[in-house]
Amino acid sequence: MSGSEERPHAELWAQVQAWLEEWWDPDLTVDAWWKAVAAAGWTAPHLSEEQGGRGLSRRSQTVVRSAFAKFGALLPPGGLGLLMAAPTILTQGTPEQVDRLVPPILEGQVNWCQLFSEPGAGSDLAGLTTRATRDGDKWIINGQKVWSSMAMTSDFGMLLARTDFDVPKHRGISWFAFPLDQPGVTIRPLREMTGQAVFNEVFLDDAVVDDADLIGGEGNGWAVTQTTLHFERTGIGAGGSHAAFPDPGPKGGMLGLRAGDAARIEPPSSKLTLGFEDVVELAQRTGRASDPSIRQALATLYAFTETGRWNALRGRAEAARGGGQSVASTGKLSQTRIVKLAAKLGMDILGPHGLLADADGVDGGVYAEAMVFSPASSIYGGADEIQRNIIGERSLGLPREPAPDRDRPFGEVLRSYGG
Ligand SMILES: Cc1cc2nc3c(=O)[nH]c(=O)nc-3n(C[C@H](O)[C@H](O)[C@H](O)COP(=O)(O)OP(=O)(O)OC[C@H]3O[C@@H](n4cnc5c(N)ncnc54)[C@H](O)[C@@H]3O)c2cc1C
Repeated sequence: MSGSEERPHAELWAQVQAWLEEWWDPDLTVDAWWKAVAAAGWTAPHLSEEQGGRGLSRRSQTVVRSAFAKFGALLPPGGLGLLMAAPTILTQGTPEQVDRLVPPILEGQVNWCQLFSEPGAGSDLAGLTTRATRDGDKWIINGQKVWSSMAMTSDFGMLLARTDFDVPKHRGISWFAFPLDQPGVTIRPLREMTGQAVFNEVFLDDAVVDDADLIGGEGNGWAVTQTTLHFERTGIGAGGSHAAFPDPGPKGGMLGLRAGDAARIEPPSSKLTLGFEDVVELAQRTGRASDPSIRQALATLYAFTETGRWNALRGRAEAARGGGQSVASTGKLSQTRIVKLAAKLGMDILGPHGLLADADGVDGGVYAEAMVFSPASSIYGGADEIQRNIIGERSLGLPREPAPDRDRPFGEVLRSYGG
């Protein structure tokens, strides 16, 4: 983090430094360290004190993480639980659900994945066909999810399932805090063009979830989903760097490590997306910073990055007033543009040499990998076209897209996939 990030938050920065001087102990286990960090409210300082935070601004989370990194201490836990599940449960859950499900996320004890997309339901998420059937105080789940990032290392899924096929599609969906470690769940990795297998297919065959883990009420899952997607898009729009690292939960493999050793592990996500500072540093190091075409592209990237940051600030202000949906979509689009331009610029700076991967490549093939990953930014968190639809309809007041099946009972809608 640059000095310019540090200065406006000097007081908070100093507070974190003082706390770390007293508490950072590299010989603690990661498990013990994260519990101490959560108890002090540093995992999610923007939450209220009673929710486990410190009642600070949303921006404070990034400042705190930067201060931890600069000090050399292991960062607070990351993961999709922190980015999406915790704020969703805090917004839509009962006090009992909040008390039971949120603290383990803040303490890094569990990892979460997002079980939304299906083979026949991505952009048209409300067309999902995974079925939840009530059985006493439990629900039986049957169906298939796909593109489920990090499901292999997760303990819980944010699961969307249809609890009523007799009402229009947006009304029959429910949102569950779904435990993944059970016989009815099969998780299969999918290899991506980056060579990694972060994605998974998740098959649900008579899987079970307690009614107590239904968040936001039966049939209200679409409204709950909007909350989750809002936090996903604002997280991505703000750079989303703390989304996944350090990996929480027993399957993340960090809990038993010595905290001092874990602090030296490089975040894998840094290999996937580049930002302005990365490419400026690369241009300077390789002597390409004086090339006029590179300078021009760097200036464009800087402008995108700054407007993205202003948009994120506007989003936070609007969210505090209870709005901000289309600002979240603008932010997501803006971040996509940044990720793609930075990846292309890395290639322009390096030339053909930049295409070499892994050990043969520059800096371990970071730039080649970022280039190959960058198209994904137009898809995850809702495709670019969908973000533009949201901005058009909700912000600009344009007519809604025709949706002839919107008001029909979902069971009567013609569909090519799912039961
Ligand atoms: C890196 C990555 C991580 C992901 N992680 C997860 C995850 O953890 N959990 C999860 O549930 N999902 C995840 N996804 C899935 C992602 O949410 C979906 O891929 C996305 O919503 C698009 O759905 P789809 O792939 O079914 O494409 P489709 O919906 O079939 O879209 C295909 C194309 O048609 C366009 N299109 C569709 N409808 C419209 C329309 N109405 N108007 C204009 N254009 C339209 C789309 O923009 C797109 O270009 C991830 C995806 C990626 C790339």
